[in-house]
Amino acid sequence: MYKTDKDLTIFHKKEDDKVLFPVFSSDFYIFVRRITNLLTKLWLMTKEKKPAVLLLYTGGTIGMIENPETGALESFRFDELLKQVPELKRFHYRIDTYSFQPAIDSSDMEPELWGRIVRIITENYEHYDGFVILHGTDTMAYTASALSFMLENLSKPVILTGSQLPIGKLRTDGKENLITAIEIAAAKRENGQPMVPEVCIFFENELLRGNRTTKVNAENFNAFRSFNYPPLATVGIHIRFNEHLIRKNDFTQPLKPHFNFNNQVVMLSLFPGIRKSIVASVLQVPGLKAVVLRTFGSGNAPQKEWLIRHLKEASEKGILIVNITQCQHGAVEMHRYGTGLQLLQAGVVSGYDCTPECAITKLMFLLGNDLPLEQVRQLMDSDLAGEITRDKE
Ligand code: ASP
Repeated sequence: MYKTDKDLTIFHKKEDDKVLFPVFSSDFYIFVRRITNLLTKLWLMTKEKKPAVLLLYTGGTIGMIENPETGALESFRFDELLKQVPELKRFHYRIDTYSFQPAIDSSDMEPELWGRIVRIITENYEHYDGFVILHGTDTMAYTASALSFMLENLSKPVILTGSQLPIGKLRTDGKENLITAIEIAAAKRENGQPMVPEVCIFFENELLRGNRTTKVNAENFNAFRSFNYPPLATVGIHIRFNEHLIRKNDFTQPLKPHFNFNNQVVMLSLFPGIRKSIVASVLQVPGLKAVVLRTFGSGNAPQKEWLIRHLKEASEKGILIVNITQCQHGAVEMHRYGTGLQLLQAGVVSGYDCTPECAITKLMFLLGNDLPLEQVRQLMDSDLAGEITRDKE
């Protein structure tokens, strides 16, 4: 496109004098041919549909700029973003932007704001090939997990990214993260279908399934890992998609957005020496609906009579207890040791190799849909959006 614009300018300047005597001269035929070629090129270019990406800025470090006088990080107007990343113009995509007002630090993320993101995606779904969400890194994995459940039948890419250094800083990781996330959001297969019709996190050089991802580093640019599922793409000189790992969606199904959550849940992490009174009081919180129990190794807990009794009583009262491991890598296998088996017998269900972020958001999501407890149990045991490896137990 640039080449054509430049050609046009040069052409007008050079040929100005010659158009005064165009008739029958060979220059006239060259002139007509060049004009025809240019018009054809322009016509083809306008006919060719540009990929369209909606860029949604929710907040976080990526959208901050360092005040040169104080050195403090401050939010800057989102429309300034394009000025900070002029490279975006070279994509020849239609990139529209939308910003949360005010932008939020992701520590303030809430289910209600997940609903806002889903509403924006849903309302604009038909108009874009993909969506990029700029988000603070601290709770990005929770948001990615939540969105993966809220956007049922998703058939377009929703790529979350952010950065460890603000986009206005010289060594920022934000520019590359943003540019690559946009490229991935617009990427298509040979048959024209979106390459990654999933909620993902792109960070540093890996595209990860959102509901498999955990923030592991508050310092390095390589801040996210997916311990139990390989990257959907690795990015170096080329973007190499691992197509066999990407979800195969039914593109004929319409997007079905969900908005409800129930946050009557808690995450309880066991540790040697945990007190009976603490466990008892957590399990007796009025209205409590579910517990994500973070256990040892392959899903084991202390063999204390009182612990199993409290868990069993809670379970019998209708509180759903989901067992996930404190290990980053690997899955819960409650049959493996007596210390796990006793949990199974107390009514605890397996969370398989689910991340904590995913387990808690999945529970809040299922409970928010007012399903009977037995159905919530079954769905916790099922793979809804690629979040668990079901054959591990
Ligand atoms: N506190 C910031 C946030 O999560 C950190 C970041 O963006 O990396 O919003």
